[in-house]
Amino acid sequence: MDIKKLVKPNVRSLKAYKAEDIPCKVKLDANESPYGFRVLENINTNRYPDPEAKELRGLVAKSLKVRTENVLHGNGSDELIYNLIATFGGPVVYPTPTFSMYGIISQALGEKYTGLSLDDTFDLDMDGMNKQMQRLKPKMIFLSSPNNPTGNSYSADRILHIIKRSKGIVVVDEAYQQFSTKKSFVPLLKRYKNLVVLRTLSKVGLAGLRTGFMIAHKDIVNEVNKVRLPFNLNSLSQKVAINALKENRKLKERINSIISERKRLFKELAKMDSVRPFPSDANFILFQVKTADKCYRGLLKRGVLVRNMKGIAGGCLRVTVGTPAENNTFIKNLKQLL
Ligand code: PMP
Repeated sequence: MDIKKLVKPNVRSLKAYKAEDIPCKVKLDANESPYGFRVLENINTNRYPDPEAKELRGLVAKSLKVRTENVLHGNGSDELIYNLIATFGGPVVYPTPTFSMYGIISQALGEKYTGLSLDDTFDLDMDGMNKQMQRLKPKMIFLSSPNNPTGNSYSADRILHIIKRSKGIVVVDEAYQQFSTKKSFVPLLKRYKNLVVLRTLSKVGLAGLRTGFMIAHKDIVNEVNKVRLPFNLNSLSQKVAINALKENRKLKERINSIISERKRLFKELAKMDSVRPFPSDANFILFQVKTADKCYRGLLKRGVLVRNMKGIAGGCLRVTVGTPAENNTFIKNLKQLL
């Protein structure tokens, strides 16, 4: 597959902005101030951040067993979705309900986009997908797996079929992968050049940093890098993310505690008569409840904020897994309301 041919002509002819990193004693080349603030050790606020986020990308690459050249950094994975659509354009296809930004960004960039309903088990509807692939010849397909807001992962064989069949880019958005027991698609990048995997640190305690990553063939990384703004990831975010990734054990412990709380929360919800929770591989649970709107408002009145999925997954609420105490408060209040 020739990635260049898939790229929008305006991006194809672009050259990536190159912020050169030339070692020197007196740095007077970038219109920075000589006076900085010491926020964290080794961070000079007066200097621009590393435009290529080399150390951070290196750590991510190592943890995923890929090369640094296969990783691109984003100001959250949101930004990478934006940059990907800016690079390849539409038609964009994705199953629904799913993460709303695929549609919002497509529309903002003036690209065609089509949502296609998931099947009854929230898995990919392959008849529909095959038809859309034939009819629309999508340049991009976005598959959030585990999916937000349904929580489940799509069947791996269905995702694989789409990757093999698609003549465009297939993005597997693994924002919630760390909470799942299903296999990541990262190892398949070696075999499929049109595959892109998205990851983020937002769900593991670092949402405030806005650090997301795209893992892909270097031809894709090079093209998307052309539309990336030069200093998209600030110095503080880079530094804190580097420290967090080096303290991998702590991250893992926290992920495990969310997973065990998710299991407990699921059991508690399943015990309630009028509630139907859907199995989740993510850090949230979607559940159907007869009086969804009323429950949403009632919970809010008691200080517990969940997501009302009205208009997206009718009659459902989505609850994020919190600390054991937060989860207890949620369960106690929902029980009272019902
Ligand atoms: N993909 C999915 C499926 C998500 O649910 C989210 C966050 N809601 C994102 C991407 C964006 O994450 P980030 O904070 O890295 O921009």
